[in-house]
This record gives sequence, structure tokens and C-alpha cells, in this order.
Amino acid sequence: MASDAPTASVSRVRQVEALANGTVIDHIPSEMTLKVAHLLADASDQVFIGMNLRSTRIGRKGVVKISNREIVGKAASSLALIAPSATICIIRDYAVVAKHQIPAPAVFEDVARCANPNCVTNHERCGTRFSVVSPNPLTVRCQYCERTFDAADLSLL
Ligand SMILES: [Zn+2]
Repeated sequence: MASDAPTASVSRVRQVEALANGTVIDHIPSEMTLKVAHLLADASDQVFIGMNLRSTRIGRKGVVKISNREIVGKAASSLALIAPSATICIIRDYAVVAKHQIPAPAVFEDVARCANPNCVTNHERCGTRFSVVSPNPLTVRCQYCERTFDAADLSLL
């Protein structure tokens, strides 16, 4: 048995251990935690949310755990809009089988609503499309009305 791991890493392991199978999204900026849970969880999912946890990397962080579902593909890309610094761990049988940074797409399609009330995307049934203007803090431009927004301020579709 290995055992001189410092306390901090022991508690981190324990957070992951709580989930038998599913996805752990870690290092979420604390204030975005509920948005992340809302974005990723379906009504029938078992979800665990931790907010204002201490993180050496980002100060205060949030963690969202979703049982029995592996978050990949489009859902993972959507996360890039509101929590680009987060990490995604896929858990199977209590073990982390994959750990990745959030992908960083250059374009976000049908993820968020345009914050410009006059934008055509808020009046016609068409998708939304934002291109990345700058990565940190993430700033995006609506490709329909060409206005630029702070990604954290957009509401999700
Ligand atoms: Zn727009």
C-alpha cells in the first residue's frame, strides 16, 4: 500500500472515487459551476455538484459529477464556451480511464443564444454561430450580427 501521498491528493482521489461510472468535470471556475451542471445534465441524471472548493490552480473551483454518462463530443465542446479551463475525467469502475482538457473549437454552433436582442438568430428559427475572437478571457463574435461578447455572459441554448 502506498501511503505517503500528501493529504491534498488523497482527498482529490476520494472525490473521484465516489463515482462508479460516469464523468467528473473538475477545475470549473466556481461561479460557472451551476451553468456547467445545467448544460451537461439531463433531467434523469444523477448529478453531484461541489462549489467553492479550494484549488491550488484556480483559487476556488467547482466540480460536477454525472453518474453513468460519459461526456464527449459536442457536449464537451459546449463546455469550452463557459469553462475552458476545466478538465474532464471519464470514470469506469471507480477508475479514471481518460482525462482531458476541454477541446477548444474555433467556432461554437448552437451552443449559446446571441445577447443582441435585435440579432436575426433571436427572431428566426436558425442556429447560432460564434467564432472565437480571443481565448482568455474567452471572447466570441456572433457571425450573424457581428457583435462581440464575453463568452461567460452568454446564455446557453
Ligand atoms: Zn447575433
